[in-house]
Amino acid sequence: MPQTPLFDRIALIGIGLIGSSLARVLRREGLAGHVVACARRAETLEAARRLGLADDYTDDPAGAVAGADLVVLGTPLGAYGALAETIAPHLAPGAIVTDVGSVKVAAIEAIAPHMPKGVHFVPGHPVAGTERSGPEAGFDSLFDGRWCILTPPPGTDADAVERVAEMWRRAGMTIEIMEATHHDRVLAITSHLPHLIAYTIVGTVADLEQATQREVVKYAASGFRDFTRIAASDPVMWRDIFLANREPVLEMLGRFSEDLARLQRAVRWGEGDVLADLFTRTREIRRGVIEAKQA
Ligand code: NAP
Repeated sequence: MPQTPLFDRIALIGIGLIGSSLARVLRREGLAGHVVACARRAETLEAARRLGLADDYTDDPAGAVAGADLVVLGTPLGAYGALAETIAPHLAPGAIVTDVGSVKVAAIEAIAPHMPKGVHFVPGHPVAGTERSGPEAGFDSLFDGRWCILTPPPGTDADAVERVAEMWRRAGMTIEIMEATHHDRVLAITSHLPHLIAYTIVGTVADLEQATQREVVKYAASGFRDFTRIAASDPVMWRDIFLANREPVLEMLGRFSEDLARLQRAVRWGEGDVLADLFTRTREIRRGVIEAKQA
């Protein structure tokens, strides 16, 4: 039996990995009466059209949001401010605006000041992804069994929060409500720092002399391979994440540098027990991740 759509008209601003995965969920679950996909480049819109991700396709964000009861911002964070300013005058009274950005304080600072009275802004972050980007990279099971963190500022309309939460639940996610500042600290250590480390290691290899580089690529399966996957993530998106989450990332990086120096010392002085102790503790963390079904 067909479900009643959760929203009449959804505008997806940005139809990349996250936007296109959500579009596939909307279609699978019958969550929207009408879906409009918006991107800048003709080839992105053409790919989205080929994949049948939406009912309408446009490069005009203002036109896309007209009459929409839900707007989802799914572009890199750096585009949020200008986009929010552009769409603001065209938002329908009572519309809900949400986003999927990986940093929440900066997202709120960029979007909230532009929101007209009577429009509900529900900041969100579906914590799911891959290193790939663009409409072709999406798939409808991306969000299955993952967390979606919503960070509504105090006073946000509870009904609007619940409707956004329900959309992500239908995508297979479990909802967590969190303060934006807390979200940014947690993600700095669980996501942003690991990416920074991967970018560093792969960058170090890129700077090695040619012959050594060839060996590294040849024997990549011994560990390097996993870093190259993470370091292949979208450059613009990750540039924006580090610019937007500067303080929490610097704080975690400071702690990491201290721990790295301690490990360096243990290696230098042959402190095998220090190394084995740490490697035993880290194994436990991996077990916890597997038990939480996040592996
Ligand atoms: P993506 O695959 O690179 O897609 C970005 C989309 O935004 C593209 O369709 C792009 O269209 C569009 N876009 C960029 N600037 C625009 C503008 N000014 N106006 C209209 N459309 C614009 O990116 P993604 O991986 O889906 O990430 C999108 C957001 O999700 C980011 O904020 C990121 O922090 C967040 N996020 C990502 C992941 C992940 O693992 N990838 C996970 C969770 C959250 P064009 O091709 O036309 O430029």
